[in-house]
This record gives sequence, structure tokens and C-alpha cells, in this order.
Amino acid sequence: MPELPEVEIFKRYLDATSLHQRIDDVEVRNTYILKETSARELARGLKGRRFESSRRHGKHLFVRVDDEVWLRLHFGMTGSLQYCKNDERAPRHARVIFGFGNNYRLVFDDQRQFGQVGLLKDVDEFLKERELGPDALDLGLAEFRQILGKHRGAVKSILMNQRLMSGIGNIYADEILFRTRIHPATEIARLKDRAVKKLFLATHFVLRKAIAAKADTNQVPQSWLLPHRGKGGKCPRCGSRLKSASIGGRTAWFCPHCQKRPSQN
Ligand SMILES: [Zn+2]
Repeated sequence: MPELPEVEIFKRYLDATSLHQRIDDVEVRNTYILKETSARELARGLKGRRFESSRRHGKHLFVRVDDEVWLRLHFGMTGSLQYCKNDERAPRHARVIFGFGNNYRLVFDDQRQFGQVGLLKDVDEFLKERELGPDALDLGLAEFRQILGKHRGAVKSILMNQRLMSGIGNIYADEILFRTRIHPATEIARLKDRAVKKLFLATHFVLRKAIAAKADTNQVPQSWLLPHRGKGGKCPRCGSRLKSASIGGRTAWFCPHCQKRPSQN
């Protein structure tokens, strides 16, 4: 599922391929994906115009057409972008296709169909309506401390709560906690100041490093949890067998030796 690093990679891909070209055609192959807009409105809002710039917030990507028209992309579970020539076959799960004047097109591909495409007028207004917290990479230590200090619950659930901070999902929350050797079910109130600071530094480190590795599982360091998570996986630090648990409705992977659960008394 695309999280902050994947969406940042999509943003860079779109910036490198699809800006400043006339949009000649907008083809919607599945309307389920459209939010807050119809296929007609989407075509009317975009045809004859250009994508001028883009902005990412958490897992959302916004593409500016002009001050009053923004395209919103959310990648759901399996969404991705592909830029290809008109005479090349479109990817199998193409849902929306933006055709440019240069014989290329940008395809929003999405097998599982949880992605979202829409038009909106004001990005900040949208973020406010959705009550999305600040982007995880925009947070400073003081703000991070404040957010954690105000809430109760498992540390992993807090990291993944998009209303508190945006962009971290299941995979990177596990990675950040593995790096800090904190058990994912640890009650946030039990974390000392030092642990909170470590968590903050790890959040920035993991997200930035994942972006540098193009959010590719094969390119992140082998010392990370990511290449090993899953059944039969072993901790790259101590060799223990990794464990899983359901926390906040998602499957957490962790090392039971390196990430000890603090005693509850
Ligand atoms: Zn370990």
C-alpha cells in the first residue's frame, strides 16, 4: 500500500514526465475511482490545459492546473502512475488515462480499485475538511512531542493515525519501531522523553532513506525489517524469528527479542 515514500516517488515521476504539456484527452475507464467529481467534470476541468506543478501531503498527491483547479490522486492499496506512449498498450488495470499533445499519456493504474481521483479548488481546504494532520516529514521535534503527549494508545496506532500526522502506514510504522527497538503495542504514555526523540529521529530517517531507495523493497538496506517481514522471516539484527500481531486492525511485524514489550505493572 503506497505510503509517504511511495507517493513522493510518484510525485517525482509525475514532475519529471507530465508537467507543462497540453492535456488533449481524459479517459475514465472505471468511474468508481472518481470522488467529488464526474467523468465529464474531470474532462472539462483538464482538457486543453496543463499540469503546472504538484504538491504531496501524506499519502495524497495534488496536481495544480491553476489556482482554482487541482487534480487529487490517492493511491489506495495498489495505485501507481505510468507514463507511456500512445501506441504502447495501456497497463492492464488502467483506470484513468490523461492523454497529452506529445503522443504520450499518463495512466493511473490500480488493480484493487481503492484509489481515488478527483478535482478540487483548494488543497488546504480539503486537508482541513479531511482533518488530516501535518505531513510526517514537515513535523519538527516540538510538534511531534506535542502530538504524542496529547494522545493515548499503542505507539503504532498513533504513528499511523492520519489525523495526527499524515503519511505513515503499516509498513513504515513497523520499520520506524524496529529501528527504535520499541514494541509496536507500547502505550504511548509510557515512552520517556528520550524514546520520543529517538522515535522522531527514526521517523525522519526511515522516510527519507526509503525515498532515497525509491521506495523499492529491493533497494532498502538489508539491515531493515522490510526485506525480512513476513512468515519465516528472521530479525536482521539478532536472528530471532520475527513475530506478528494485530495492532490497531493491522498486522504488525516485529522482533520479540529486540523489541521487548514493557511490563504492564
Ligand atoms: Zn532482533
